[in-house]
Amino acid sequence: MNDLDLLRSGGVVGGGGAGFPLWKKLSAPAEYLLINGAECEPLLKSDQYLMQRYPSELLKAASRLASIIHASEAIICLKDHYIPQIHALTEALQTLSLTPSVRLHLLPTVYPIGDEQALLHSATGRTVPPGALPGSVGCTIVSVSTALNALRALEGKPVTRRFVTVAGEVKHPGVYCVPIGFPVRLLLEQAGGPVIQDYRLILGGPMMGPLASPDAENVVTRTLGGVLVLPASHTLVRHAELPMEQARTRAKSVCIQCRTCTDLCPRHLLGHPIYPHLTMRAFASGNRLEASAMLCMECGICELYACPMGLNPRRVQQQQKAALRSAGEKPVFQLKDPPALAEYLQAPSGRVLARIQAACYDIPVPDTATEVSAPLVCIPLKQHIGVPASPCVAAGDRVQRGDTIGRMADGALGADVHASICGTVVKIENGIVVICAQP
Ligand code: SF4
Ligand code: SF4
Repeated sequence: MNDLDLLRSGGVVGGGGAGFPLWKKLSAPAEYLLINGAECEPLLKSDQYLMQRYPSELLKAASRLASIIHASEAIICLKDHYIPQIHALTEALQTLSLTPSVRLHLLPTVYPIGDEQALLHSATGRTVPPGALPGSVGCTIVSVSTALNALRALEGKPVTRRFVTVAGEVKHPGVYCVPIGFPVRLLLEQAGGPVIQDYRLILGGPMMGPLASPDAENVVTRTLGGVLVLPASHTLVRHAELPMEQARTRAKSVCIQCRTCTDLCPRHLLGHPIYPHLTMRAFASGNRLEASAMLCMECGICELYACPMGLNPRRVQQQQKAALRSAGEKPVFQLKDPPALAEYLQAPSGRVLARIQAACYDIPVPDTATEVSAPLVCIPLKQHIGVPASPCVAAGDRVQRGDTIGRMADGALGADVHASICGTVVKIENGIVVICAQP
């Protein structure tokens, strides 16, 4: 098997986002391989933990992935206040001789510097044109957890675990090492359980993670980096649960068209022609769409940090973007000069955390991650962009951790899926393989 086949059969997909299969991403050559160590979302600590715990492995992974895409060097990008991680990586760098070479790039502590376009701009000075991908300017970006998973897969060890930050109103917040497919409900129990009665879950980070009901049957997947437990009355929950008709009424009556949402939008600061204040105006009028909503990456700065009136420009952007897509619109955009003093308009991470009333949930990076042992896992055959894997086990089969349970057809977009515990396949239903641990 070549390297790309090993990555596909090892189940490596982007761990920091939508689950894009890594073998596909590395199929094209690039000048730079960037490792995204920004841990973009506030409160999440898993990547910081991994950089601190496995610095040599991360450096080797970065160099190895850079060689696959014929990059001249690999750059590990991490925030300038990640002092223990910077020390660990710098120390490890001195003991290794790597080709292609690896170096560190320190990012400002602003949100969302982990957005791949903001990170790429900071590390290389290049700007990805609106609507394009990092490959268009010679870069490939891979997250910390993905790079470490890739190194293991290249050694024949598939992805069966995910490091997940559990934070918020829970007894033992921390970083947990969790078998893929473990129910979120049981993960909360292992974290001591919620300490309040009326709560909601956010799956991912506080700025971009979707809201989930505590009763929903969610499981840990290869792309889940965090679980937050928040009071039902929390400002993030109220924003997410506001009905769109109410958002429209508020936009009509309260939006003062101050354009702060546009002025502080991170993509606008890069020179992308995106104007959330115009989207708000179009939404309030109810009869037209604002094409620039297509450029929104839904970071939440406009809604949770910028707007002085507490309105919902991010949700309006999401709604208009969906409407534009279903209307088949494919507008073309031109990159503009970035606004003057753009770097001074970036949002400091600490102020973002305070603005969303979540500073009280910030925890230090732990020295160890808590291992979760699972009596049962429910593993989706689709945890990635593309088509689902086809099951290659049946009810009653005994499996070992790491055995392939879902296989991709040759050339199809996706990645194989593996048993994350030893046990017996109980059933395969609705694209989910349920495995019970051996007694
Ligand atoms: S910041 Fe708020 S009030 Fe100002 S234009 Fe944007 S949505 Fe309207
Ligand atoms: S969510 Fe708001 S701030 Fe973020 S990219 Fe979209 S419009 Fe810009």
